[in-house]
Amino acid sequence: MIEIVDLKKNYKSVQALKGIRLRVASGELFAYLGPNGAGKTTTIRILTGLTRPSGGQAYIGGYDVAKEPMKAKRHQGLVPQHVNLDAELTVEENLVIHGRLHGMSRDDIRRRIEELLDYVALKEKRDSLVKRLSGGMKRRLMIARALLHHPVVLFLDEPTVGLDPAIRRRIWTLIKKIQQDGVTIFLTTHYIEEAEFLADRVAFIDEGSIVALDTPRHLMESLGQWAIDSYRDNAMVTQYFADRESARRYGEEHKNGYTLRRVNLEDAFLAYTGKKVS
Ligand code: ATP
Repeated sequence: MIEIVDLKKNYKSVQALKGIRLRVASGELFAYLGPNGAGKTTTIRILTGLTRPSGGQAYIGGYDVAKEPMKAKRHQGLVPQHVNLDAELTVEENLVIHGRLHGMSRDDIRRRIEELLDYVALKEKRDSLVKRLSGGMKRRLMIARALLHHPVVLFLDEPTVGLDPAIRRRIWTLIKKIQQDGVTIFLTTHYIEEAEFLADRVAFIDEGSIVALDTPRHLMESLGQWAIDSYRDNAMVTQYFADRESARRYGEEHKNGYTLRRVNLEDAFLAYTGKKVS
């Protein structure tokens, strides 16, 4: 459903993308993770036709995003990183404008708004001004808006940034539901546990290149099953082990105490990108 071949992007002296190559299957939930400045937003901007690549190709549903941008756009919805709703309009008005911009008929817009307000649990807010909505409601409205014109691919750029943990989980449930309804999802997030919970496959991108691409389970298992966090020489140190008993024995050697836990996707992220998530 998404194919990226040797994709490059230069901004003057900055090589933001250095030859990205990946494929996302129909119905897959793919997470694209990397430290700040790694090139995630640049990739999404190219895929959604907001900027042109300096080299390589990208296809959505078989359409080249640079050569057939309108056809590629019809197949996709975008939830951008920053809230870009019209705050002075109501929930329904925001959706109607999006439908008109996409050339939908009045009947289709009306039917789809009914369905989607129900889907994202915003029916009772239909006539509320967007500026009166909570952060979580605005995110849900942005997701509904991105789905209005029946896209088969949904781009979610940091969909839960700044939301509290309970609301974030509610959005996760919604994202899972959208995938179950057959939509292919391309997700970027700084919350690694979000990708661990949601994604079928994950790519780690660092300084414009993909440094690892696999299922969350395989990426975690490449380090081991168990982790020991301990404090040594004024620094937090993490060691990985294949089995719990060896991990515990190692931990017992540390007088300052230790924490024994399962390896998680954040461990794999740090091991492959060598950076802290910020
Ligand atoms: P973040 O997690 O901080 O959003 P990101 O992974 O999305 O980061 P990008 O925004 O794609 O990273 O940026 C990749 C690189 O390209 C960075 O070095 C950034 O400074 C640079 N860059 C991005 N947009 C521009 C631009 N319009 N002009 C010049 N350089 C840019």
